[in-house]
Amino acid sequence: MNQNEQERRARLLNAAKKRLPSIKEQFEEAQKRNFNSNFREGGKDAHLVGKTRKNAGKATNKAKSASKSAKNQAKNASKIAKNDKNKVNLSVSTRKGEMVHHQRMLSQDVNAQATQHIIGIPVNKSRYNGYDGAQVTHAQLKSARPSNDSVHIIPIGGVGEFGIGKNMTIIEYKGEMLVIDMGVLFAGNDYPGVNYMIPDIKYLEDNRDKVKALLFTHAHLDHIGACRHLLPKFNPLTPIYGTDFTIGMIKKQMSELEDEPDLNYNVIDPFKHEKIQASDHLSVVFIHVLHSIPGSTAIVVRTPNGVIYVSGDWRHEERPYGKQTDYERIDEIVKNEGIDLMLNESTNIDSPGHHPHSEYDVGDNLGKVMDHYANGRVIISCFSSQVSRIESTLREAAKRGRKVAFAGFSMINNVEVALRTKQIKVPKDVIMKMEDIVKLPDDKITIVCTGSQGELNAVLNRMVTGAHKYIKIKSTDTIVFSSNPIPGNEPHVVSTVDGLLREGAQVIQNGKTHLTNIGPLHLSGHAYYEDHVDFVTRLHPKNYMPYHGEFYMLQHNAEMAENVIGIPKDNIIISDDGDIVEFTKDKKIKKTGRIPAGNKLYDDADQPVHEAVVKDRIHISREGIFVIVLTISKKTGRLVKTPDIVSRAFIYLDNSEELIGKIRHYLRMKTERSVSTDDAMKALKEEIKEEVTHILYDATGHTPIVIPVINKV
Ligand SMILES: [Zn+2]
Ligand SMILES: [Zn+2]
Repeated sequence: MNQNEQERRARLLNAAKKRLPSIKEQFEEAQKRNFNSNFREGGKDAHLVGKTRKNAGKATNKAKSASKSAKNQAKNASKIAKNDKNKVNLSVSTRKGEMVHHQRMLSQDVNAQATQHIIGIPVNKSRYNGYDGAQVTHAQLKSARPSNDSVHIIPIGGVGEFGIGKNMTIIEYKGEMLVIDMGVLFAGNDYPGVNYMIPDIKYLEDNRDKVKALLFTHAHLDHIGACRHLLPKFNPLTPIYGTDFTIGMIKKQMSELEDEPDLNYNVIDPFKHEKIQASDHLSVVFIHVLHSIPGSTAIVVRTPNGVIYVSGDWRHEERPYGKQTDYERIDEIVKNEGIDLMLNESTNIDSPGHHPHSEYDVGDNLGKVMDHYANGRVIISCFSSQVSRIESTLREAAKRGRKVAFAGFSMINNVEVALRTKQIKVPKDVIMKMEDIVKLPDDKITIVCTGSQGELNAVLNRMVTGAHKYIKIKSTDTIVFSSNPIPGNEPHVVSTVDGLLREGAQVIQNGKTHLTNIGPLHLSGHAYYEDHVDFVTRLHPKNYMPYHGEFYMLQHNAEMAENVIGIPKDNIIISDDGDIVEFTKDKKIKKTGRIPAGNKLYDDADQPVHEAVVKDRIHISREGIFVIVLTISKKTGRLVKTPDIVSRAFIYLDNSEELIGKIRHYLRMKTERSVSTDDAMKALKEEIKEEVTHILYDATGHTPIVIPVINKV
């Protein structure tokens, strides 16, 4: 070790020592909090432990009886087999039981994968589940009678699912309903061929006349994305409320429909603090909050039982870009009326600390990229709804004499609505059309585009593959990912980044400042943990319902409310889609029953996809499909030509002569006697299906979907 290195290390050690007391202090401060009541001394609440054990016992009994019935089924099957005198000798070495087991495991897997979002009675034994930590039973639900004097809060989407999305909440009192938001949830890879899903709103359709107003907190797709499917289902006279940007985005979406309905849109200005008397008993006020899209609001609902604060999506910034959250108005309501129930979003509850930087820092850093990589094109990809990001890009580009073009359908849509509703200030002569901008020298070109999530068909990927009409990535290009991958999208982002790097381009991603020394390049739209602590403290609500989050987020949000804020456990509820949460006359919350809740799936052509189709797709993607076509003479009931065999996604026929030979041989023996009646044909099909499945399983260990077809000629 040379002397310089020794000195450097000594310096570092010294600096660390100096920092140590404050780190220790922070740590000790944190230790004073009860993070998770389940890990308190003595563990989980004692009475719950007893209950859980009892339930566990029950579960094992159930499993036992299930396996018993499976055994019986197998027994019956073998009985049938013995009685069948026409049975062909299969000459397979694996036992049938093995194949049946394989099939059962497979169908369990397929069901588990395809029904993640199907909501019957969800498992919810959280201590905040509204039933004192015990799983609610059918009997309990059957006997539940929500009181007519209570306000009912019913989330029908957006809580405790896999992924955040399809937010939709009903607030109901004496037959008057308000609906807040109508979002989509984009389906993951688990759902082959499904693009997105929306909430099933049967309950609202059955109660159409009771719906008094449709309220929208903001224009993100997880809040308005289902409008084109759902708005037409309501009475067209039902008033729709939202800020100008939100209503603009909804209208844009509706205008894409073939026959656009004429709806009752009402633009509200949250700064006017206007009271909207939505029905006889319910009134609402929209409150401006900071988030990552213009026109974001929280909604205060005044009910005969008290004030409900519905947070919408929000973040806190000391130095906000645009107008600060309307804390004045919030404080006033807290002081004069008090918040009796708060629904608070949960997205970033797992992010420690406060929001670390501001949108201004992001803007400055985008400028730094343009300085540092001054000789080439700068391509910035971000969410199309990041209007303030787009504005800073325009400003930074103008300062440097660069022009900006937008690419991507949703990007152009958003900019259009932002311009129309005056949400964005544009420096003179900066925006250009893509077809014109490409004629400029590279150092004058800035492009803002979609594709930061690695979406295969978004602009950025098309630039990589050369499929974009105007732009092909060059080695002098610099691409900025002004975003974070949404959980689940990471592999797609990686593949896009790889593609860009292979073209020799420079890639700068948010969160990887150590590689380029430029960052941060993104700001999350959602409050961090300490922001939640501050804000919930500020509102000090009597009752608390975490919403807008996966189950773990809701749970962590609830734990924060109980252990850090000090809201009593019984005043906190974690609900699932379809739960009816009562907000009673004496300002308590409790769960009483469920309404039917679920999902509607859609493909990328906006066509509905049935759950059974998804299950088939999953099955085929794992095991394949095997079709046998027998051509039988009507006259003789005998085979007239060699059976046709089609295999898809299973085995490649040319490489499987032996197996196919065996199956042909089997089919010939099977059809030696004549089959003429419909019943005989039906029985033959069934036998072939079962026996061929067995032969295929014996040879390959897989059970494709076997489809025998009989052609009568
Ligand atoms: Zn949002
Ligand atoms: Zn959201």
